[in-house]
Amino acid sequence: MSGWVAVAGLGPGAEMLVTPEVRAALAQATDVVGYIPYVARVAPRAGLALHPSDNRVELERARFALDLAAAGKRVVVVSSGDPGVFAMASALFEALEGRAAAPEIRILPGITAMLAAAARLGAPLGHDFCAINLSDNLKPWALIEKRLRLAAEADFAMAFYNPRSKARPQGFARVLEVLREACGPDRLISFARAVSTPDEAIRTVTLAKARLEMADMRTVVILGNSATRRVGPWVYTPRSAP
Ligand code: SAH
Repeated sequence: MSGWVAVAGLGPGAEMLVTPEVRAALAQATDVVGYIPYVARVAPRAGLALHPSDNRVELERARFALDLAAAGKRVVVVSSGDPGVFAMASALFEALEGRAAAPEIRILPGITAMLAAAARLGAPLGHDFCAINLSDNLKPWALIEKRLRLAAEADFAMAFYNPRSKARPQGFARVLEVLREACGPDRLISFARAVSTPDEAIRTVTLAKARLEMADMRTVVILGNSATRRVGPWVYTPRSAP
């Protein structure tokens, strides 16, 4: 039997938000590979080997998955949210480069954090937007600041992943400073924590009231564009340009 690798997104947390396609792949798998908390979300069963690994070993993990598939295993590499958004799909292709033979590979999409958060809030991403990973593990801090400034100048709404990295706990304070300068104090900013889990907490404030402690590593932050506003309990961005 020939092996395969599926890189699957488990969604933001709720069981209801795992796609049937991902469920089917997990049902056929012999092996599950991924970061410890994501592998913990997969129900154990006979005939399924779970291989949890630590963070920051993405490339190693991807090579391991390819090796298992080459040995005939049916491997699901799990990410939270969507596997193509700051996650394992790119790592798998990076590991594939330079290999003589490739197994069958499928990327199975999932609901990414910003879309789950946006749905809870209303429609803050209803006009043009961008997503920025605020972790400086894989890129210099100066590049993050440059992208923030240019995206603000272009009046994009923005979604921020990994807002507070352990290595740079104060980095998000600097992000708020840059955004206040570029967008002014009245711009709406939403903090969506642990969306779709029992720990879910969501709040929207103006940039003037935003504080460093409102974000942690389980939070995705959504900044509105200059037209983003409230209607009742909702936050939305009109579809037409401001
Ligand atoms: N591939 C994932 C993102 C991985 S980066 C996805 O598509 O969602 C990890 C970051 O995602 C976290 O630091 C946080 O910013 C965000 N995140 C993941 N799950 C989340 C959730 N349930 N609620 C809020 N943010 C979440």
